[in-house]
Amino acid sequence: MDNMLILLFFLLGLIFGSFFNVVGLRAPLKQPFVNDRSICPQCNHQLKWYELIPILSYIFQRGRCRHCHKKISYLYPLIELLTGLLFAFSYIKVGLNAEMMTALLFVSMLVIIFVSDMAYMLIPNNILLFFLPLFIVMRIIHPLDPWWSSIMGALAGGMIIALVILVSRGGMGAGDMKLFGLLGIILGFEKTLLTLFLSCMIGAVLGLVLLLLKVINRKQPVPFGPYIVVAAMTAYFFGDAVLSWYFNDLM
Ligand SMILES: [Zn+2]
Repeated sequence: MDNMLILLFFLLGLIFGSFFNVVGLRAPLKQPFVNDRSICPQCNHQLKWYELIPILSYIFQRGRCRHCHKKISYLYPLIELLTGLLFAFSYIKVGLNAEMMTALLFVSMLVIIFVSDMAYMLIPNNILLFFLPLFIVMRIIHPLDPWWSSIMGALAGGMIIALVILVSRGGMGAGDMKLFGLLGIILGFEKTLLTLFLSCMIGAVLGLVLLLLKVINRKQPVPFGPYIVVAAMTAYFFGDAVLSWYFNDLM
């Protein structure tokens, strides 16, 4: 494994991560992503290039804006670091091949959705619509085996969530349904079901822990998107190992 390439993908991820912060926060508001991106959200101060270096700016400014001295959310550097690690990990796990681009697009979409869902409790339609054609093209270039597993995954993911929405009347929304349709294209049938299972497990366990620690109360709605994001990444990178362990060793 080439260490220089791992470092390169990590740095690339840091830069993309700081862009995904902006996209995730602006997409639900339907604001443009590229225009005047470099302002402090508190005082609208135009940021200089050295205030935009991922993670380092945050550390050197001790988490505060240089102009108005208001606190900057720790989520910004955290998302940057997370994206850096995910890009490097995609290269380590997948390697330089046709699937690599799919892996990068997949984690990119999930990081943006994580930001939006944490900030606004919604999964933005324009983000899903942006990634849909890219995912279809990637699965034509590098199809699953069998290729129709993508179609089965999209149908199963979307239909099961639709059923959950009908039965539960709330809890999950149309955004979750569309997201699962998209995940199905990339993951295929089995790993989409695995994602559903894992996201419910993570949601139940973490929900219980947060209730017990009194971080949340029973009536407070909790965004489900972050659980789906973690479950989908687990299914994508480790799904084969998990499924073969379950079906070969346990059954
Ligand atoms: Zn400021």
